[in-house]
Amino acid sequence: MSPAPSRTATNIARRGLMLVLSSPSGAGKSTIAGNLLRDDHSLEISVSVTTRAKRPSEIAGTHYHFITVPQFERMRDSGDLLECAEVHGNFYGTPREPVEQAMKEGRDMLFDIDWQGAMQLQDKMKADIVSIFVLPPTMTELQSRLHRRAEDSEEVIRTRLLNSRAEIERWREYDYVIVNDDLDEAFRNVSCIVNAERVRRDRRYGLFDFVKELLTEEPKL
Ligand code: 5GP
Repeated sequence: MSPAPSRTATNIARRGLMLVLSSPSGAGKSTIAGNLLRDDHSLEISVSVTTRAKRPSEIAGTHYHFITVPQFERMRDSGDLLECAEVHGNFYGTPREPVEQAMKEGRDMLFDIDWQGAMQLQDKMKADIVSIFVLPPTMTELQSRLHRRAEDSEEVIRTRLLNSRAEIERWREYDYVIVNDDLDEAFRNVSCIVNAERVRRDRRYGLFDFVKELLTEEPKL
């Protein structure tokens, strides 16, 4: 009979982590999030609801659940949103149920949300949150990235640029701050943070059993 599979560092039970990524529009946060989801299949994205109009490249249900203002208000008022905020004149919110389910099952979730949402999650679920703020290398680069995306009107780009300064001021509230000068390097840094956070002692409640079992083994002297 083959021996029972041994417990390894990767299957020690732990709580799921909530990875929060924030940045001003155009700093590259969504690209970093996309790369993370492509390479790390243990991470799933929390799909927000929004009252903003869909961009041509977006898929309803994948990038956002696009809803009306009355639908948003109903969800918010009945407690179906874990956090919500008005950002650049539109409403956004995180549906509660998928997150609570993921946390119960020890799965990791990624949140692409603004600083207001990040603060609300910090207040409610502090122990599970890992927050990263992504900064652009320069304000000129931020502006040209917003134009390069070419999916928003000039008016929308203007609002987002005007709001970016106040958003950047929030950098102190995050656990980690990354300057996205080089996308590959920024992505590598985010991946390292996720891997390190997954092996944090206080997240891995399965260590108690692991160590107990480890110490039942007698040394062969
Ligand atoms: P965009 O319209 O460019 O997709 O997003 C605008 C801003 O809203 C971004 O900073 C994005 O991270 C933020 N956002 C997206 N979904 C949510 C959400 O569910 N809650 C909060 N608080 N912000 C969100």
